[in-house]
Amino acid sequence: MEGLDLPRSILSTPFYSHDDQAKMLRETLIRFSLEHVKPRASKMDMMDHIDVSRETVEIIRKAAEIRLLSLIVPEHLGGMGGLTYIGANALEVLGYFDAGVATSIGAVWLGLLPVFIAGFLDGGVSWDKWFKPFVEAEEAGEPQIWAFAITEPIAGSDYERIEPGSKTRFMTVAEKKGDGYILNGHKIFISNGPIASHISVFAVTDVENPYESMMCFVVTKDMGVKVETIFDKMGHRSSPTGELIFEDVYVPKENVLCPGGMGWDVVKISLAMSRAPVGAIGLGIAKRAFDLALDYSLKRFQGGKRLFDHQIIKYKLSKMLENIVYAEYSIYGVTRKLDSSFPPSTIESSYAKAIGADIAVANSIEAIQIHGGYGYMRDMGVEKLLRDAKLIQIYEGTNEINRLTAIEEYLEGG
Ligand SMILES: Cc1cc2nc3c(=O)[nH]c(=O)nc-3n(C[C@H](O)[C@H](O)[C@H](O)COP(=O)(O)OP(=O)(O)OC[C@H]3O[C@@H](n4cnc5c(N)ncnc54)[C@H](O)[C@@H]3O)c2cc1C
Repeated sequence: MEGLDLPRSILSTPFYSHDDQAKMLRETLIRFSLEHVKPRASKMDMMDHIDVSRETVEIIRKAAEIRLLSLIVPEHLGGMGGLTYIGANALEVLGYFDAGVATSIGAVWLGLLPVFIAGFLDGGVSWDKWFKPFVEAEEAGEPQIWAFAITEPIAGSDYERIEPGSKTRFMTVAEKKGDGYILNGHKIFISNGPIASHISVFAVTDVENPYESMMCFVVTKDMGVKVETIFDKMGHRSSPTGELIFEDVYVPKENVLCPGGMGWDVVKISLAMSRAPVGAIGLGIAKRAFDLALDYSLKRFQGGKRLFDHQIIKYKLSKMLENIVYAEYSIYGVTRKLDSSFPPSTIESSYAKAIGADIAVANSIEAIQIHGGYGYMRDMGVEKLLRDAKLIQIYEGTNEINRLTAIEEYLEGG
């Protein structure tokens, strides 16, 4: 459906007062999305889940042309030096146009986060090693595509809740071999898994003691990792999701990002830094739902007047707008705080993710309702928002796990 009046859109006139860097980035990304994402979004949503990967890679290449991928790379290495606040701005704008594209670009940054954290802890050695070639590849127009792999078939939420002494058994195991390690195991539901050139993989060396022995490795495609399945999904169809098999994959010692005992800390910090920006994808979906519903309510006449002029519809729209105000201040307030301290706090980031996810679902349901029967039809582009919104409540830790973790950390004084 055409008719989106971007100058009046809630996307281009946010309530939250952004800084100049964020304003410039939003403007650039709105232009980028109008040219490269919006015209493809509906087609990619309807495409076969295997064929769509080519389109996604094409968009990632276009994103590399505007140097979007190196957004989280420190400035002295050629990146934008942006963290969660800037990342959230980018993901909100992309999420407004197509949540799957936002997820795939976000998954590149999520894959790079362990490098960012390792570099923070080792005085920048990991940054020089991984970020330099990353930036060079982006400049050369052959971008590296990263992914982040923790989830396993028998451990989804459990992988996000490991504690000292935890006895959950994980499947991906690293065994010392010479200077390096041999990886065997299985990861599931990995965003960008089917198209990734580099994957940050978490594995344990001692299955009896996962917390104490978890490590993180950078596994590159040429090391022999197999993509077993490309999943056919309800939404985010433009973001390829895969199942990865590791069978005697040799990883040299240069690709060890963090040694045993530090792996879980890296997972935890990565999730603290990524959850609020994932909530921003939800905010983008919620804004799109509001814009489409408002636009329709001003054009559609029933009962002798515009839908907007029926009090019940006006109230629904006001509630959608309220959700947006609430989430916008939460997500950007939280991301600003996350960027000001290291390690970042998990509590607010978990809530910001859950809030963004819930308002995305709520607003897309109301947008369908306001569109009536038309909203239920695929070519209207409204029901897609609900299919996309649902995932935000599930990945990056389910909303339930985010809320459980937050209250537990609060009790522990975190
Ligand atoms: C499209 C997609 C993309 C993804 N991308 C990635 C990725 O890039 N990298 C990656 O590593 N993972 C990724 N994931 C995995 C995702 O993070 C997990 O699916 C999620 O953490 C939930 O794990 P699970 O699916 O195993 O569900 P389960 O953990 O089995 O949970 C099932 C249900 O039980 C509830 N539950 C579980 N434990 C508890 C508990 N202790 N108390 C109360 N309720 C509980 C959950 O909230 C949920 O409702 C992706 C998933 C999807 C669907």
